[in-house]
Amino acid sequence: MASNRLVCRECHRVNEPDRETCDSCNSSSLTEDWAGYVIIAHPDKSEIAREMQVDEPGSYALKVR
Ligand SMILES: [Zn+2]
Repeated sequence: MASNRLVCRECHRVNEPDRETCDSCNSSSLTEDWAGYVIIAHPDKSEIAREMQVDEPGSYALKVR
């Protein structure tokens, strides 16, 4: 179910469609080539969040190419 949503290469945030910059870090390095959608609700309690160095709740991609 790949969508046209763009993922930030810097922070792995999944942005809403048609964004030109990342909602989270304002990077313009966005890509459609990503896999593994995860929702992180409690970054401080999440192993995945720690591994991905995520400190803000939201939707993220596990793999970004
Ligand atoms: Zn970002």
